[in-house]
Amino acid sequence: MADVSASPLATAEIIAVGSELLGTTRIDTNSLFLAGRLAALGIELRSKTVVGDDRARLAAVFASALSRADLVVLTGGLGPTDDDLTRDVVAAALGLEMHEHPAIVAQIASRFARRSLRMPEANRRQAMVPAGALSLDNPNGTAPGLYIEHDGHVVVLLPGPPRELQPMFEALCAGPLLARAGEARLFTEVLFVAGRGESHVEEIAQPRYSGWTRESPPIETTILAMPGQVELHLTHRARDAHAGAARVRAARDELAAALGEDVFSTGGRSMEEVVGAMLADRGLTISAAESCTGGLILSRLTDVPGSSRYVIGGAVAYSNEAKTGLAGVPADLIAAHGAVSEEVAVALAEGIRARTGATLSLGVTGIAGPGGGSPEKPVGTVAIALTGADISSRARLFSFFGGRPQVKFQASQAALDMVRRSLKQ
Ligand code: AMP
Ligand code: MG
Repeated sequence: MADVSASPLATAEIIAVGSELLGTTRIDTNSLFLAGRLAALGIELRSKTVVGDDRARLAAVFASALSRADLVVLTGGLGPTDDDLTRDVVAAALGLEMHEHPAIVAQIASRFARRSLRMPEANRRQAMVPAGALSLDNPNGTAPGLYIEHDGHVVVLLPGPPRELQPMFEALCAGPLLARAGEARLFTEVLFVAGRGESHVEEIAQPRYSGWTRESPPIETTILAMPGQVELHLTHRARDAHAGAARVRAARDELAAALGEDVFSTGGRSMEEVVGAMLADRGLTISAAESCTGGLILSRLTDVPGSSRYVIGGAVAYSNEAKTGLAGVPADLIAAHGAVSEEVAVALAEGIRARTGATLSLGVTGIAGPGGGSPEKPVGTVAIALTGADISSRARLFSFFGGRPQVKFQASQAALDMVRRSLKQ
């Protein structure tokens, strides 16, 4: 099927079709999946568009995508209803006649028959195949996909539901597209950094990656500031798989060495996965008394499969009474230093450790906002303490930016990072 004699597919565009994707409740996630798969094939994604279920607008978007890109992938609009136009619009734009394929009609009818239902007439349109196109079987739904080779371009039509699109792409598109893609492949590495802001990461990274962009082939570096972490994404397109992978790995290692301890992950693992693995490796256990994070630290730790090996539990000690009742924080300590203080954070950590018997314990107390701040302790002030069998209690006062969810997340991240750093030593 794949015309390997044609020039390789170098560039791609994605068109997500569906009026619901222009509204406020549905987001186009198919293009995220497809972007990853195209990158792995070494096909450069140039643009993506979301367009409603409108014949003229879809036709215009498709025509311009086809004029620019070697490969156009359309998702959605393959259903049986009148607003499902993708098949018709693409066939008309390419000047291809459509024919009903009896085998596909039979297949769709049998899907209905299995549930003792009659196939509605409307589903027949899903069996319409443009001349020369290959119909892509859909074991997870009624809408078949289409794979069309046309004038050196490839046009792929995939059903909208992700659970139908993804297996169809893997089983029926990845292979033919790989055969049509050039020899270059994309190699990527990521580094996650905690405890250092974006511009400080940039200061260290920039002198290194600015040279890499002039290499041939270059390494592209993207710095992304996320709440609680800065991410460095390195991408490198190379023909020689061995050399390509080695080059980008060497670049990653150079950055990791320059950034030192602040790098918590090089394989894309989250902070809770990294900390969880350290605790499991060392046979340690953890508990937490959380005020402003409201259980987020323990929630994140327990997101990791196997965390029952090291998570004991803890308390959401939100009110002053709960700090005293659940974690044994003396009421006069709170009165003397304020609920948001390093002293109270230490008392939370030590109190919950005494009650749970964990090797390591965290105490967190802070002001997530938007109210509750003062000139001395503005919104975003969070005290975090760590205590443990072999470490003396330590506490730090942080000031985080952002709204309530950002402050809570950054506090959980800083707390987990405190555990990580203590175990590195
Ligand atoms: P359709 O193939 O247009 O009938 O789409 C069926 C359903 O798939 C829609 O109602 C959405 O829930 C989902 N869907 C369609 N397009 C996308 C997309 N680009 N990303 C994620 N889900 C989608
Ligand atoms: Mg639709």
